[in-house]
Amino acid sequence: MKPTGLRRTKIIFTIGPATDSPEMLEQVIRAGADVCRINMAHAKHDYVRQVVARVREASKKAEREIAIMMDVKGPEIRTGDVATPIELKPGEIFDFTVKPGAQGGEEVRSVDVNYRDLVNDIRVGDTVLVDNGLIRFEVLEKNDAKIRCKVLIPGKLGSRRHINLPGVRINLPALTEKDVGDVKVAVECGIDFIALSFVREPNDIEKLRHLLDDLRSPARIIAKIEDQQAINNLQDIIKCCDALMVARGDLGIECPFEDLPIIQRRAVKTCLTYGKPVIIATHMLESMITSPMPTRAEVSDVSNAVFEQADCVMLSGETTVGKFPMQCVEAFDRISRRIEISGAGGLGVQPQLGSDQAKMLRSAVVMANELRAAGIVVFTRRGFVAQGIAALRPECSPIFAFTNMPVVLRQMRLLRGVEPIYATFGSDPENTVQKAIGMLTQAGHVKPGDKVVVVSDILASDRLINSIQLRNVE
Ligand code: PEP
Repeated sequence: MKPTGLRRTKIIFTIGPATDSPEMLEQVIRAGADVCRINMAHAKHDYVRQVVARVREASKKAEREIAIMMDVKGPEIRTGDVATPIELKPGEIFDFTVKPGAQGGEEVRSVDVNYRDLVNDIRVGDTVLVDNGLIRFEVLEKNDAKIRCKVLIPGKLGSRRHINLPGVRINLPALTEKDVGDVKVAVECGIDFIALSFVREPNDIEKLRHLLDDLRSPARIIAKIEDQQAINNLQDIIKCCDALMVARGDLGIECPFEDLPIIQRRAVKTCLTYGKPVIIATHMLESMITSPMPTRAEVSDVSNAVFEQADCVMLSGETTVGKFPMQCVEAFDRISRRIEISGAGGLGVQPQLGSDQAKMLRSAVVMANELRAAGIVVFTRRGFVAQGIAALRPECSPIFAFTNMPVVLRQMRLLRGVEPIYATFGSDPENTVQKAIGMLTQAGHVKPGDKVVVVSDILASDRLINSIQLRNVE
């Protein structure tokens, strides 16, 4: 296998106090980050406006324009405020209340919940998990004002803690009022991707798509799968979204943790089948929040995502509050490159090739594989040709995707093996191809004597037709 010099697996980092200064952003982008994620569980609108401007400025300085993703919270259940943290005891009886005054002077300790229908959705015997699954309860009984539980795994319950209800069908809207407000700010700032949390079915994605269409936004939708309902609808969700995120944080709480590797593998494989990009997220380099080196287990976990041929790996706490954000990006970069040049991987997935164009793209990839081409050159206005080729996972040829649309350039940062390049397109396709190969030679991506496969329009009489060409770089 010939090392290409370009890393294929893309890197997403979550912005926060550890990375949001102009200097750090420039360093992180230079180190190879491809997408900046803004987590709306923590960010206010003014912060979003400020960091988007900073990321764009840092990209200019680093001469590498990266994409920005806004991650909206979606339907989330939380406990209310408590005056002081409640120290729960094993076996203690504890109430979650949904109506004011539900306790009626009883001795049992309690906390409010922000979701009134909890009492309708939950059944006796169900599990309630609080604070990322650290505290566990079993539901003993319920009435229209509260659910009464027994503490199975105790802990300290603070204010506004996240609640997970494994296996329970929640009736909250897919897009909350807060999400709609957040998306409007994303559109105002020209954000490239919206990641939607707790997607349960394709209709959740459609709601966001309608909102984006109404706002005339070209932003693409990333569906975050985080619970059993999403797993049940996995194939339909993948068909409907623009990209998928395997959000292992919540998924590992909502599903048995031993199922997680199986779910991840299935999600990656199904995304490859349908030609959709896939992101592996959460706890990839968790120990690096406080340590400059990853654990051996983390190196293996990241490698596994690369072996599986996921498009992206993602950093969360490691780059929001971690002490070593740069080292995390560098570790992702090192591990990905090493695994990629080992030549390992390849799931033998055969994407669904319905259209003639998809079949043509496969021919281009077969040709590039057989000739060990130095690159596959594509010209794309919406990014779909590049996405179609990337989904076929060429064995050794990077995909050089030329586009005249800045937003498409940024969105292609998500695609495995794609190097997006900005170029204006002339009316003569041959000139455009020559110019592109010239740019690649100048940048050192190809050299005289190399073979490249070009997927481009050509002029035949007065018509433009698709073509696959083999060119020798001169
Ligand atoms: C996750 O749960 O893994 C995740 C990425 O979502 P969030 O960080 O929004 O909880």
